[in-house]
Amino acid sequence: MTQERELKVKEVIQRTHNVKSIRLEFNAPDDYKAGQFLQAVLNNDPQLKHYLSFSSSPTEKGFIEFTKKISQSNFSKALDSLKPGDSVKVQYPFGKFTLEDNGSPEKIAFLSGGIGITPIRSIAKFAVDKNLGEDIVLVYANRSVKDIAFKEDFDAMQKSYPKLRVAHVLCEAEPGFKCRVGMINSQVVRNEVPDFKERKFFLCGPPPMVEAMKKILVEELALPKEQVVTESFQGY
Ligand SMILES: Cc1cc2nc3c(=O)[nH]c(=O)nc-3n(C[C@H](O)[C@H](O)[C@H](O)COP(=O)(O)OP(=O)(O)OC[C@H]3O[C@@H](n4cnc5c(N)ncnc54)[C@H](O)[C@@H]3O)c2cc1C
Repeated sequence: MTQERELKVKEVIQRTHNVKSIRLEFNAPDDYKAGQFLQAVLNNDPQLKHYLSFSSSPTEKGFIEFTKKISQSNFSKALDSLKPGDSVKVQYPFGKFTLEDNGSPEKIAFLSGGIGITPIRSIAKFAVDKNLGEDIVLVYANRSVKDIAFKEDFDAMQKSYPKLRVAHVLCEAEPGFKCRVGMINSQVVRNEVPDFKERKFFLCGPPPMVEAMKKILVEELALPKEQVVTESFQGY
């Protein structure tokens, strides 16, 4: 059942030059699952309303977090000026971009572009904190290193949870940074996820990117479509 609450901003975190996380005071972590999304209304203005994925995990106590790419929109401008103590109306939880709770660890792969990382960060954090045993590969595409949201977070998670591996894909090479250059295509999937046939795939990003990645998996790599879960960020 969905709930509506008015929550106070606890903290604002600049993730990259154009991505911000908003943490809201919250003490009901069992109310949502990692990977789900909420609807946020800013300044009590029904025009300033967007769906946003949780970037926090229910294992993180005392707050929920969402993370937005800051554009020129009125919503982005209002979000950009939020400060601790301000109120945000939220309705939640929505969505099925979540791990199955079937008791046995799965092999999973995430394919993500840019801000599409938010629900994946939520799920990865949950798996790491709970030590779920899931074997996880993340193929994470961005324009350049400075655009990688949650980079340090994923670096730390990989250290504490050896079953998580992150493969970065960038449009431009960066001296000293291990990555593939280009786009996520079938060859990148074959190279980074050689056991792709055994994995459940989670795709998240702007709709054209999600469609393109799904096509690669289902048409080029002949993966059954039941093995592919998607979340499209309508609005990009
Ligand atoms: C399930 C879900 C989860 C999302 N999670 C995130 C997230 O974690 N971080 C993030 O930055 N963005 C997320 N988005 C996208 C977000 O809701 C905004 O659409 C996007 O951030 C663009 O908003 P804007 O303020 O930059 O631009 P705006 O100018 O407000 O929107 C851009 C254009 O998209 C249209 N639009 C907005 N929302 C929708 C919609 N739901 N369906 C169709 N058209 C729409 C607007 O009418 C406008 O023309 C998510 C979207 C969905 C559906």
